[in-house]
Amino acid sequence: MVKKHFCEILQGHGDICHMDFRIITRNGKKRWLSHSCQPVYGLDGRWLGWRGSNHDITERKKAEEGFKQLTIELERSNAELKQFAYAASHDLQEPLNVIGGYVRLLARRYKDKLDASAYDFIGYITERVANMQKLIKDLLEFSQVGTEIKKFEPISCASVVNRAIANLQTAIEESGALLTYGALPTVMTDPSQLYRLFQNLIGNAIKFRSEETPKIHISAERGRNEWVFSVRDNGIGIEKKDAERIFAVFQRVYGKSKYPGTGIGLAICKKIVEQHGRRIWVESKPGNGSTFHFTIPFSE
Ligand code: ADP
Repeated sequence: MVKKHFCEILQGHGDICHMDFRIITRNGKKRWLSHSCQPVYGLDGRWLGWRGSNHDITERKKAEEGFKQLTIELERSNAELKQFAYAASHDLQEPLNVIGGYVRLLARRYKDKLDASAYDFIGYITERVANMQKLIKDLLEFSQVGTEIKKFEPISCASVVNRAIANLQTAIEESGALLTYGALPTVMTDPSQLYRLFQNLIGNAIKFRSEETPKIHISAERGRNEWVFSVRDNGIGIEKKDAERIFAVFQRVYGKSKYPGTGIGLAICKKIVEQHGRRIWVESKPGNGSTFHFTIPFSE
C-alpha cells in the first residue's frame, strides 16, 4: 500500500537541483557535501514537497583541488622549462661558439709556433666544446617536445624511415649496417616527431653494435587498438636492471669514452610516444641484441 502510494506520488516531478557546499561539523572539521533535491508533485499536479539526498564528497573535492594545484604547478614548470630552453639556446651556446671559434683560430694562426702537446690541448677543448654543444641541442629539443601545438597529419611511416636512414648514411656506411623493414602503416602524427623517434632508435641500434655486422629490422604489427612498432638489432643488448632507467634523462649504461652520447635520446623518444598517449619499452638480453617497441594509435 505504501509502495503504491509512493509510486503514484513520484509520477510527477520537477527539475533536479544540485548544490555543493562546505560545512563545519560539530567537532570543527570541514567537510564538503553534495546536495541534490527535486520537487515532487501528486497525480493532480499538486506540489507535495521535496525529496533529496546528501553525499559527503570531501575526498573528491580534495582530489579535484590537488589536480588543479598539479595543473598549475605543471604549467609553471613548463613555462620555466621553456625559459630555460631559451636561455640555453642563446646564453649558453653563444660563449661556447666563441670558445670553439677562438680555439680554431689559435690552431690556424699559430700553427708553426705550437708544439704537439698544445695541439693535444686544442683537440681536448674542441671535443669538449662539441660535446657541450650537442648536450645543449639535445636538452633544448627535449624541453621543446610537445610545447608547440602542432596538428597531427596522416604520415607514411615508410617515408619517414627512409628519411631517417638517409640522414644516418655515414654511420650506416662506416659500420656496414644492414637495414631492412617490413610493411609500415600510415599514422596520424607530427612528421618531425616520428622522424626523430626512428632516427634515435636506428642511430642507437648502429651505435651499440656488437662485433657482428649490425642487422637492424623495423616492423609494425596491428595491436588491439594501436600499431606496435619494433626496431630490432643484433647489438650488445641491455641488462634487465637497466631496461627501464635508460628512458630517463642522462641515464646511460656505459662511459662516454666507449660510446659517445648525451643520454637524452631515449628520453626524447619516450616523450614523443607519450605525446600520442602511448608507450615505449625494450626487450633485450646482453649479447643477444635489443628490440625497442613503441605504440602509436590507429589513424581513424
Ligand atoms: P645515448 O645514446 O646518448 O647514450 P640514449 O638516451 O639514446 O642516450 O640511450 C641511453 C642508453 O641506453 C645508452 O647509453 C645505452 O646504454 C642504452 N641503449 C640505447 N639503445 C641501445 C641499443 N640499441 N642497444 C644497447 N643499448 C642501448
